[in-house]
Formats: sequence, C-alpha cells, structure tokens
Amino acid sequence: MAAACVLLLLTACTPAEPGSRATGAASTTSQAAPTTAAGTAGGPQEPSAPATTGTPPAAEPAPGPATEQASAHDDPARIDVVVNKTRPLKPLDYAPSDLRLPNVPLGPGGDAAQVRESVAGAVEQLFAAAAADGVQLTLLSGFRSYQTQVSTYQYWVEVNGRAGADRVSARPGYSEHQTGLAVDIGDPSGACNLSACFADTAAGRWAAENAHRFGFIVRYQPGQEEVTGYAPEAWHLRYVGRKVAADMAGRDIRALETYFGLPEAPDYR
Ligand SMILES: [Zn+2]
Repeated sequence: MAAACVLLLLTACTPAEPGSRATGAASTTSQAAPTTAAGTAGGPQEPSAPATTGTPPAAEPAPGPATEQASAHDDPARIDVVVNKTRPLKPLDYAPSDLRLPNVPLGPGGDAAQVRESVAGAVEQLFAAAAADGVQLTLLSGFRSYQTQVSTYQYWVEVNGRAGADRVSARPGYSEHQTGLAVDIGDPSGACNLSACFADTAAGRWAAENAHRFGFIVRYQPGQEEVTGYAPEAWHLRYVGRKVAADMAGRDIRALETYFGLPEAPDYR
C-alpha cells in the first residue's frame, strides 16, 4: 500500500492525497507514471495581493504575442505565469493564499483538490456545462505544495537516482500544480484517469473542445513535448483566463510557451 501511494504521487498530476487513490492508481500507473511526468512545474512567488474573489487572480495579460517579455510570466500570483522545467516557481516554496475546494463531483483524491478562488469558480462553471451536455467530470487534483513534491521527488531519487526520478516526478518547485491554477480531471468510471486513454473518453473529448470557454487550456498536448517538456496529458487543465484561452484555441496555438514567445523547455537546465 505504501509503495502504491507513493507511486501515485510520482506524476506531477497525481493527487496530493496519496492514500485515497491507491487502488485506482494501480491500473493506470503503468501508463501515467512513466510517460507523464507531468504535473509540473512551477513556480512563482508569494502573491503580493490576493486575487480578487470572483475575478481572475490578476489582470489578464495582454494576449500575447511573442514580443511579450519573459519577466511578465514569472509572477506566480498572476494567471499568465509560466512554469516549466526551465522556469521554476519563484520562490520555490510559493503557495497561493486563496485556495478553496471547488463545489464539483470529486474523484479519488479530489477531496484535497483545492485551487485559487477565481479558478474554483471557473472549474464549477466548466463542470456544470459538461453536465448540461451529458458529460460527467470528476475533479482529481489541484494545488500541490512544495513540501509534498519534496517528499515525492526525494523518494524517487532514493529509488532510481536523480535521472530516474526526473523521468517520473517533477522536481520540487517545478510543478504547475503548485500555482493553484491547474487541475486534473477524470470521469466517474476512473478507467482512464490520469492515463493517456483519457483523451478518448467522452470527458476528455469534451474538455479538449470546451475548456477554453471557461478560461482553461489542455496544457500538455500531443506533439508539444519538446516545447512543454511533458508527454500529452488530456486531463491536466491550466487556468489562463478566457481571453488567452479563447485566443489560443482560435489560433490553434497548443503550447503556452509558444503563445507567450518563451523558450522551449524540453528538460531541466
Ligand atoms: Zn496535472
């Protein structure tokens, strides 16, 4: 059991709550863990000002052409922060101050899936819209702390060495989940939760087609591994605000790095 629990935490996307998903994980781990080290990156610094309730955490960035300065995407308190293997959170132990659990159906581990206040509202709207279309979603994971990632990553370093650990676990301070702007979603069956086959489920297809309407992007898409540093994760949604999400969808830009004109981040420096 203990091993299984730890294993789940491997992927960046696995829920912070280890115990609750041991069973479901076993079936999906072989796929999810190795191929998706995702969960990823991140990190910025303490939000200087708490996000205003009901609105995006920070002013939405001007849609962003490649001319935008990289420094504009360093602040973890902003919804245009970009966290990847070359852009850790600043500070590394950043944690949002306005976390709450969205009022949506929860999957295994979902009881710990807190996100920032404005993101929680967007999650609730997205889930309600999916349900209205006859598609049931579950929430699996949200914010994960620096300390959680320290424990997980260290475990894998001890087991597989640093290189081996990097293949299955995000380094502490490099997970997008630490921003409180990312969620992992699943469906009630759980058969493809946190696995590549989620892309082919009704829930996965619905999210791919509609997430942008609620300010989310599917952060790690096929064919973008050399840009984002992660294998595709149809279940990992990142909140960027409706303006950016809609613009990316409309222009078929599939990586946040590309959209903001930031360097590709295939691996740690
Ligand atoms: Zn994730």
